[in-house]
Formats: sequence, structure tokens, C-alpha cells
Amino acid sequence: MSTATDLPPALGEAARSYLEREHLLLIGDERRAAADGRTFTTEDPASGSVIATVPQAGEADVDAAVAAARDALEGDWAKLPAARRGRLIAALADAIEAHTVELAELEALDQGKPVTLARAVDVRATAAHFHYFSGWPTKISGDTLPVSQPNLFCYTRREPVGVCAQIIPWNFPLLMAAWKLGPALAAGCTSVLKPAEQTPLTALRLGELALEVGFPPGVINVLTGDGETGAALVAHPDVDKIAFTGSTAVGREIGAQAGRDLKRVTLELGGKSANIVLADADPAAAVRNAFQAIYFNSGQACNAGSRLFLPVERYDAVVAELAERAAATKLGPGLDPDTQLGPLVSAEQHDRVRGFVERGIADGAELLAGGSATPLGEDQSGHFFAPTLFSVTGDELEIAREEIFGPVLVASPYSSLEEVAMRANDSDYGLAAGVVTSDLSAAHRLAAMLKAGSVYINQWGLSDPSAPFGGFKASGVGREHGREGLESYLETKTVWVGL
Ligand code: NAP
Ligand code: MG
Repeated sequence: MSTATDLPPALGEAARSYLEREHLLLIGDERRAAADGRTFTTEDPASGSVIATVPQAGEADVDAAVAAARDALEGDWAKLPAARRGRLIAALADAIEAHTVELAELEALDQGKPVTLARAVDVRATAAHFHYFSGWPTKISGDTLPVSQPNLFCYTRREPVGVCAQIIPWNFPLLMAAWKLGPALAAGCTSVLKPAEQTPLTALRLGELALEVGFPPGVINVLTGDGETGAALVAHPDVDKIAFTGSTAVGREIGAQAGRDLKRVTLELGGKSANIVLADADPAAAVRNAFQAIYFNSGQACNAGSRLFLPVERYDAVVAELAERAAATKLGPGLDPDTQLGPLVSAEQHDRVRGFVERGIADGAELLAGGSATPLGEDQSGHFFAPTLFSVTGDELEIAREEIFGPVLVASPYSSLEEVAMRANDSDYGLAAGVVTSDLSAAHRLAAMLKAGSVYINQWGLSDPSAPFGGFKASGVGREHGREGLESYLETKTVWVGL
């Protein structure tokens, strides 16, 4: 358990008093310890200090949470009129806005990201997501169908899929919870949410806020735990749908298991997204775009622009500018308002990123910036990693093919539009791709050629609750956001009436 003296002085009162409370699982309307009493700790990635102890949910807790979600699904939640459901979701959005500072500080401390980013992106987009989905419950409707046979009335009903296991990663903990819960709640589903073990705090707080604004107990249950907790949820026979965001390796296993059990499943997985600068692009705009695409959130974004393709004639100038900008970036703790780049989330992620960088150097890639694992000095105990830039001539090296999930950009020159489209698509992944140009015709031709779920033209990574997001190929199955995101939480029932 943390004490006030362990916590950074920059932390505000609300976040501090939340951290000093006991952290418990949320099952129905109860806040309880794990049935077997196990716990684990979460740390501040900027210092390595423990900031909180949370329960480690086991199988008995998974059983209890799924039962609570089932009871709510078939009880109070199902009886609630759609308009009331929408108002509850809106009330949760309002509560998130009202707790912006507390949630942003908790996220910055637990995850490591700059508090300015947590506030402007994570918390703001979380509230926006719930606000958007609060409008859907009253617009979910079936059809009356023009069937050919006489004296028949045929119509469809759209019904909630049921109890959802929602498993999320550590890069945008609160926002990923909203991406899962928003459409599930709008559709009338109930949820057992499992945050990542590295970042359990904001999901627990979100669950409490939902109860406070009046959600019936059991609609949102929050289980902190690890991969075993997630696996127990996935395997649970009374779960109807699994929604997962995380690594492609785990997503593959979850998809296989869901296939065997014939559970509904949506998967948001990894990426190795190509950012293509065309020869006409303004070099300063290209540098700004490429920098934001990879180093935002310290590269810990599934849609990070981790491969940069530059026209051969512009190559040296753009990479030199990027290397200079990377070297000038201020790293620091998330709670320091001057921090531009926070640490990586964990020692494990730091080791993983360092491993990729060391193998990249050994494989012969040219290191133009960063590459240093302890950029703040040898005595630094946080998981800082300097923004790193490699130059390569082909696409075969591991650093050019595998998702690193850290601040590591791999730049490469190209000669023609056809060549670069082919190389951009030569990847197992297909989450995102981008084009920087003022040539509209080339931009739209490339947008059609690129095999990716999102294509960003002259910006990178914009997101909106109304705009579908998800991957081609190994980057996932299904889409989140918008009508498509909602659809994945609905079943269609066809009703035939003999007249
Ligand atoms: P991960 O293992 O896929 O974790 C994602 C979530 O799944 C976490 O909540 C995790 O729990 C849970 N989980 C782990 N094993 C599970 C299993 N067998 N069944 C059900 N749930 C399971 O990702 P990670 O290990 O944290 O990160 C590894 C790599 O994944 C990163 O380096 C990055 O390449 C990629 N990644 C991608 C995204 C993305 O947005 N696409 C996000 C995060 C990571 P615990 O964390 O509590 O064990
Ligand atoms: Mg943490």
C-alpha cells in the first residue's frame, strides 16, 4: 500500500486521496478483495515506485463477475427504457468530465504519459466516446421486411449480444475502457472489464463512477488481474462476446478459442503502419507529421506510424531534421507539465524495445537518433527510452517488420508510387497507413491502394467516436466506433407472424 510520502508532490488532492484508498474488485454493487486474497502492485513508470496494491482476480472472481453481469442483463438493465439507458451513459460522460483532473493525473502516474496528453486526449476522448454512444440507445431499431409469401408479417429485432468480456491494454487505459463500454452499454449488453495489470487504476475508478451515476449493479464489473484472469474470462461458458485489444499473439489465441466456443469476438491488434511522404510535400509538414505519428504516447500506440517512406531525393534532408527534433525532445515524468515524452509503461516493455533496437543495430541498420535506454542518466530508475530513428534501405530487417510498440521509427527511401504502395502493403499487419502530400489525386489513388483499416492524409492518428477503427489482416477482426462498432454488440432476431 502506498503512503502519501511515496507519491509525487505534483499529484492533486483528488488523485492522491483515491490512491490512498483500498483498491478492490467491482462485482455487482460490491467492492471486494479477490476470493483467494491475492494482490499485485502497480507502479509509476517514471520512478519504478509502487503506487497502489490491487486485487488479483482468480477464477472464483471471474465466476462471480460473470454471474453479476448475467443477472443485470436479465434483470434491471433489460427493463430500463432505451432513453433512460442513454441518459445513464451521458451521465457517466459528464462524471468523467467532472473528474478530468483526477483521472488525467491517475493515468499519467500509472501509465507514465504526460498529464497534458492524458487530459487533452485520453480523458477528453473518453467523455466524448460516452457522449456519442449515449445517443444510440434510442436509435437502435429493426426492420419490417417485404417477404414474398402472403399473409405473413416479418420483422427484425436488434437485441444485445449479452454478457461481454472486455479485455484492454495499457497504452490508453481509460480510453480503451470507453471504446469497449460505450457501444456495449448502448446496445444493452453488460460487461466484465479487465484492465491490463500495468494500468489497473482508471478502470476501477470508472466502474465506481458508473455506480455513482446510477448504473444498475452488475452492468459494469471490473476485475483487475493478469493474463490468467483474461484467459479465465475468455473461457467462461456464460460469456457471450469477447472484445479484446492488445497483442496479435494473444488476439490470435482468443480468436481461436472464441471460434471453438462460437462466441462473438472482436479483436483490435497490433500494427506496423507505413507513413508515406510524397515528393511534393512540404518538408517541415512531413517532419511534424512523422514525428507525431511515431513518438506520440512514446510510440505505444497500435496505429503508430512506425515505418516512414521518403522519396529518395528528399531523404537526407527529412531524416536529418527528424533526428534533430528527436534529440531535442524533453523526456520526463508524466506529472511534469514540461514533459514531451514519458517513460515506457514497464521494465518489461523497456527490455522489449531495447532488444529490438540492439538487434536492429546488430543487423546493420543505421542509427540516426536515440537508441539509448537510459537517456536521463544512469541513476534514473524509470523506464525512459530516447526517441529513436533508424535508416534502412530495404524492408527485411526485424525492426522494419515487427511491431516494436516504442519510440522507434524506421525510415527508408523509395523511388516510385507503385513501389512504395507495394512495400507499404508488404506487411502481416494492416491497421493504418498515411500519406503526406498536396497532390490530391495521388493521395486518393494511394488511399485506395493501401491495405489498412485507416488511411491518414496530411495528419496522423485522428480518431472520432463516429469513425470506424480497426484492422485489415493480422491487425484484427471487426471495427470499433460508430454504427459498425455498435453492430458488433447486437444480435438480429427475425420474427415471423402468420396473419
Ligand atoms: P497483451 O498480452 O496482448 O495484453 C493485452 C491484454 O490482454 C491485457 O489486459 C492482458 O492482461 C490480457 N491478456 C494477456 N494474455 C491473455 C490471455 N491469454 N487471455 C486473455 N487475456 C490476456 O499485451 P502486452 O503483453 O501487454 O504487450 C505486448 C505487446 O503487445 C506490446 O509490446 C505491443 O506490441 C502489443 N500491444 C498492442 C496493443 C494495441 O493497442 N494493439 C496494446 C498493447 C500491447 P495483463 O496485461 O494483465 O497480463
Ligand atoms: Mg502502472
